[in-house]
Amino acid sequence: MNYPIAISAESAEKFGQQVVSWYHQQGRKHFPWQQDKTPYRVWISEIMLQQTQVTTVIPYYQRFMASFPTITDLANADDDVVLHHWTGLGYYARARNLHKAAKIIVNDFSGHFPIEIEQVIALPGIGRSTAGAILSLSLKQHHPILDGNVKRVLARSYLVEGYNGLSKFDKALWLLSEQLTPSIETDSFNQAMMDLGATVCTRSKPSCELCPVEQSCLAKAGEQQMNFPQKKPKKKIPEKRTIMVIPRIQNERCDKVLMEKRPPVGIWGGLWCFHEVDELNEIDDLMASLSLKALSSQTLTEFRHTFSHFHLDITPVVVDCQQLDAVEINEPNQQKWYDLHQELSVGLAAATQKLLTLLSN
Ligand code: SF4
Repeated sequence: MNYPIAISAESAEKFGQQVVSWYHQQGRKHFPWQQDKTPYRVWISEIMLQQTQVTTVIPYYQRFMASFPTITDLANADDDVVLHHWTGLGYYARARNLHKAAKIIVNDFSGHFPIEIEQVIALPGIGRSTAGAILSLSLKQHHPILDGNVKRVLARSYLVEGYNGLSKFDKALWLLSEQLTPSIETDSFNQAMMDLGATVCTRSKPSCELCPVEQSCLAKAGEQQMNFPQKKPKKKIPEKRTIMVIPRIQNERCDKVLMEKRPPVGIWGGLWCFHEVDELNEIDDLMASLSLKALSSQTLTEFRHTFSHFHLDITPVVVDCQQLDAVEINEPNQQKWYDLHQELSVGLAAATQKLLTLLSN
């Protein structure tokens, strides 16, 4: 494998100047998180932008910042409210980690975002690249970054073989990023590298004619852009099945369904979902345990939800029911009846939201 390590100071300086000057002319400077930059504002944007397109992120970001304008506001918020602001963005661990990190910042740093990179990396949900981005973009500190977009630009520019997640590949790219990142205008350079990957050096159709490093790019010289980075070898992901039980009480006064809150860790941690069973014949026991009497049931069309590491085939079963005498529920905050015709202000798993939309139409 071809892993370049050393770049001359002269070439690194030239690369940096070309990228920074492109940023001044073409870079993106008008996103909400690029105004009144603070570590907190940049942090929230960097986390939201992981795995999510900019256009999707903007309204979420604006709502989030309006509700939690400071780290202390975020730390003090109820977890249902934080997760509600994330509903639809996916990868909910990001929101749970933001909330956890905000509490740590309030406790350990009096609510001020830490400014030492080691302290930032120690916070939940923040890796080296995100920490570097936060501190360089908001405080102009000198740190290299290496997100997926930057990896693509570097792998193509220097023909680094491998794929994202391969440790030798990532290590080689970090060494490149360290050498190329200038100590002056680090913020412009880092922002430019992310923008270049997102808008010019795109995965399937790089616009090399618009790229500031076209002259030195080794992939362009050999017309090998599409071979770098390589595709990660696909692993077959396992398939699992579940039955989601939706107890529903529908009459002239109400139309409500029973939901439960997941434990804070694990799949859909802290989000509101429907009860699950493995087999249809377990539904009666479940209803009895919820103090409900089933009147009729309807099995809806199965659908698949794909997580990063498995497929989940979901069979929803709506059970029209009556409530028996009220019984004491061990953890009343963990289950609630929700009116299908009112907006919910809690975090919902994607599959739950899909079913609620289906039922309320
Ligand atoms: S020249 Fe083309 S392949 Fe090379 S970094 Fe620029 S856009 Fe990417």
